[in-house]
Amino acid sequence: MGLFSWDCEGCGHPLIMPLNAQDKNGWMTEAVAITSRGDVISGTYDGYGRLDGENIFDGLENDPQVYHKICWERAGKPNKFERPSRSSADQGHFYGENEHNSPPPGDPDFFHADEERPKAACPECGNEEARQWDAFRFKCGDCNGLFVPGGHDDEGEDPETQGEDRPDES
Ligand SMILES: [Zn+2]
Ligand SMILES: [Zn+2]
Repeated sequence: MGLFSWDCEGCGHPLIMPLNAQDKNGWMTEAVAITSRGDVISGTYDGYGRLDGENIFDGLENDPQVYHKICWERAGKPNKFERPSRSSADQGHFYGENEHNSPPPGDPDFFHADEERPKAACPECGNEEARQWDAFRFKCGDCNGLFVPGGHDDEGEDPETQGEDRPDES
């Protein structure tokens, strides 16, 4: 088995080994894992399921729940195993040039790995291109507001945009 990885619960980017770090994403090599047994392990990811040499893949059915160290701190340092993190599509290795080359959360240029899925309308200014910022919140690029979609009020008026523009039938 070659290199493999999991995606961080906070930012969606994989844990990567230092050798694969680019100019902005060196922070993705420092990680915290919660094993299915409830152990919290932190360290530098080696690309093979170990943090500072300690195995975070326990060989059972359960993958660990993983965060980058920075994302783990921003999430309030969780220490209870809730669910296994998703396996990285690219295994933290074969990724596109800029796909994961993001500065850390909190930096204005930070971007979430899942640019397709997590978009929501900003409740403050109506910008519909607000992107997921961390595990729970979205950030509006226009007004810089942070919000949790559907957190409080129901989005009562949903513009019916679907199905109006049908692609040309060829
Ligand atoms: Zn992260
Ligand atoms: Zn906004």
